Parts: sequence; structure tokens; C-alpha cells
Amino acid sequence: MGAKGAVKGRLGLEREIDRMRHLFTLCSALSLLLFVAASARWVRSYWLSDTIVWRHADGVRSGQTARGSVAVELFSFAGDRQTKPGDGSRIQYQRTEASAPVNSLLDLDAEQGDSVVDWHWHGVDWYEIQNALRGHRYAQFVVPFWCIVAATGLLPLAWTKGRLRSRLRARRERRFGLCPSCGYDIRATPHRCPECGVSLGATSAAGDGAT
Ligand SMILES: [Zn+2]
Repeated sequence: MGAKGAVKGRLGLEREIDRMRHLFTLCSALSLLLFVAASARWVRSYWLSDTIVWRHADGVRSGQTARGSVAVELFSFAGDRQTKPGDGSRIQYQRTEASAPVNSLLDLDAEQGDSVVDWHWHGVDWYEIQNALRGHRYAQFVVPFWCIVAATGLLPLAWTKGRLRSRLRARRERRFGLCPSCGYDIRATPHRCPECGVSLGATSAAGDGAT
């Protein structure tokens, strides 16, 4: 393998890194959108509860914002013909005054063969009744908005941090006469890096943008 092969290999690697960087930017942008939407819902949830209910042949699913939390409920009646609701699928939206998440599953009487999950952690609740014998499953998940906001804010934060760091590095390298792309000493050739070939004149801003 000659020097040409090494250069080609490095170009391929750089292209791969570039692709990953773009993917990272895209994911961060999407995550930022979710972060903003979740933050707005979080504030709104103290005044209004938004509820979406989806009824279908085998059960009911619903999602609700409730005073700082999101509650998701799942009622699956597959195999439990007595409690099966009417056929047909429909989605309903409801807006009510804000209330704390209510666990309606606690009103259900335990039946024979029920297995129950009752799990809580810092405002995260998982309550579930499953009956393999009768084939029904009732579940409620409550997730606080701070969890969602923290999770969706992580990527944009990491992106911003990386961006700032590479900016600072580029500035520092330029001050010390180093190529912002590969770190090679370019004091003798300030317009073009002899090592990686990056132009450092008018196009230095474009080179900076990819970093
Ligand atoms: Zn260079």
C-alpha cells in the first residue's frame, strides 16, 4: 500500500466522519424541536390537560398531559370478549382543566390470574394488570415532563458543546499558525495547507463550517 492508498483511506474516513457529523446535526435539530414542544406542553399542563383517546376493536389507548406529567393508558381486551367495546376505530381529543394524573386502574378489582406491576421512581409510575388467562392487559405509565425535557435536551446540548469546542480549537490553531483541519504547521504557506490541501484564504469560512 503506497502513500496514495493511505490518502484515499483517509479521505474515505473523513467522508464517513462528515456523514456522521451531519446525521448528528440532523438528530440534534429534531431533538431540539421535541425539546421546545415538550417544554411548551409542560408549562401548559398546569392550566390545561390535553387528552387524546383512541378507541379500537381490541381496546382503548389514551395519552394525557396532567400537571407536569404525561400519562399513557392502555386497555387491551384481546381475548376478553365480554368487555370488548363496540367495533370501529375512532380518535377523540379533549381539553379540560388541568388535573393530576389519575390511576383509574386502582378502581379495578383484582381477578383470579391477575399479575400486577406497581413500580414508582421519582414521579415515573408504571402500573399494570395483566391476565394471561382472560387475555386482557391494563397499563398506565406516568412520565414527568422534566424527564422528557431532559432527554430531548441532551443531544442539542452536546451539539452546541461540540460546536463551541471546535470553534475554539480552530481559533487557537489559527493563532498558532496551525491548519484548522489537520493541525499541520502552515506558517510558511498561510493560504493553503501543504499536508491536507485545505484552502485557507476566502474559503476558510466554508472549511470552518464543516468542522
Ligand atoms: Zn491541513
